Amino acid sequence: MTNVLPFKKKQPKRGNILCKNNHHKWEIVKEQQFDVKSGKLVTVERCKRCEITRNRLS
Ligand SMILES: [Zn+2]
Repeated sequence: MTNVLPFKKKQPKRGNILCKNNHHKWEIVKEQQFDVKSGKLVTVERCKRCEITRNRLS
């Protein structure tokens, strides 16, 4: 089983004013994950509404 696509891009759903204005509702997906690219620990967060993800440096 290869299910390693955490950063699959999704188009934001239409009609979400807050998300359009970049006020996402972030929830933590994974805490303190080591990001190889930056060489740092990052917290992966995802917006509950439009499901985009971001890495936040901790
Ligand atoms: Zn959003």
